Amino acid sequence: MFENLTDRLSQTLRNVTGRGKLSEDNIKDALREVRMALLEADVALSVVKDFIEKVRVRAIGQEVMESLSPGQAFIKIVNQELVEVMGEANNELNLAAQPPAVILLAGLQGAGKTTSVAKLARFLKERHKKKVLVASVDVYRPAAIKQLEVLSDEVDALFFQSSNDQEPLAIAKGAIAEAKTKFADVVIIDTAGRLHIDDKMMSEIKALHKAINPVETLFVVDSMTGQDAANTAKAFDDALPLTGVILTKADGDARGGAALSVRAITGKPIKFIGMGEKTDALEPFFPDRIASRILGMGDVLSLVEDAERKLDKKTAEKLEKKIRKGKSFDLNDMRDQFQQMRNMGGVSTMLDKLPGMSGLSQVAESDVAEKMFGQMEAIICSMTPQEREFPKVISGSRKRRIASGSGTQIQDINRLLKQHKQMQKMMKKMSKKGGMKAMMRGMQGMMGPGGGMPPGGMPRM
Ligand code: GDP
Ligand code: MG
Repeated sequence: MFENLTDRLSQTLRNVTGRGKLSEDNIKDALREVRMALLEADVALSVVKDFIEKVRVRAIGQEVMESLSPGQAFIKIVNQELVEVMGEANNELNLAAQPPAVILLAGLQGAGKTTSVAKLARFLKERHKKKVLVASVDVYRPAAIKQLEVLSDEVDALFFQSSNDQEPLAIAKGAIAEAKTKFADVVIIDTAGRLHIDDKMMSEIKALHKAINPVETLFVVDSMTGQDAANTAKAFDDALPLTGVILTKADGDARGGAALSVRAITGKPIKFIGMGEKTDALEPFFPDRIASRILGMGDVLSLVEDAERKLDKKTAEKLEKKIRKGKSFDLNDMRDQFQQMRNMGGVSTMLDKLPGMSGLSQVAESDVAEKMFGQMEAIICSMTPQEREFPKVISGSRKRRIASGSGTQIQDINRLLKQHKQMQKMMKKMSKKGGMKAMMRGMQGMMGPGGGMPPGGMPRM
């Protein structure tokens, strides 16, 4: 899967060299190459442009961690952006409905709908212990109904018998009614495809959608069609609200353009990928796993993670030692914490990684938090070394001076000092239990309920 793209990208990325920071200069060639690789992979042009710009902005001026080369740091950024363009997290099926939950599959002819119905039935049965009934409303293609019957037999799903002389709507309704009497949890409806999207097909499926009100409407699309897959899905979504996409035949797709374009073009998540003709060849779509596969650089990526972990450990140990010696957590330590967050790829990334911090990631996502930490850093930098170590000495006039030096207000200085005090207290309490844990709780205490934040959340910037 995606071999061509992997080859191109890994060659390119290994060529990013140089020392110190990533700069406009040492990534220029690499960016051009990444752009070429994505275009060759048949990723939609708008998506490529956006992608390159995001990587560029993120890369320039980014501190490169001690133990990483600029090339490795660049790979990390490309990886992060790949994950993002594909939708970040795995989107599971939403089956929260009065049973039976109805799933409607739609798509062009030959996309892999019927196969996917069977795969999905098997997946839900095996992984989610669901009782599944399947039905076909494809009354146009001879043997289409029979094809589903055979497959449903194979995966041991309930099959609703229909025939070519029935109306699609009547079949769907009949299937749902039967599912109720048989206490099935899920009904999957297989539909007819055309060679192109045409009005008749659209109005038929719209009427069907309206009548049966599915909880999931999945667009099945052949990944071999590249960026066209995204465009067809988009056209379809304009007429009928899709809840997600199943990308089939990814096993044969050496390019990857569909996987990288669908989310950005349609705004809808890829929920599954088909990886073969057999009924067990269906995988939930995990953007991070796919990104690592595309980069083909599991080794480098784990190296990056390693370096990050080491950095954490070093700072945490330093802090621990200091506190154990009876010294208190000062503003320098507080700044270390903020800088560490930066190194780890931003506040929201860090909050995501830390257990117990999930409640905060929403706040962090708005990037208000990011700005807030930047501001706090600036304030601390405007202080004298003595003030950082012994904040008590900061007088009213010094506060004014620090505020103007850091482009902030006096109340920002006061708030920071108050938060520092709370963290200090927390650190003292927790230091016996040690390390990262204490630090995390310190941060959490600072931001959580009763912490130093003003009521109503983060301060406005
Ligand atoms: P439909 O017309 O949309 O119902 O498509 P079908 O389910 O009949 O599939 C069309 C063809 O694609 C069949 O030969 C399937 O075996 C094949 N197919 C479907 N999904 C996959 C997949 O994930 N990988 C591969 N290699 N073939 C697939
Ligand atoms: Mg079919």
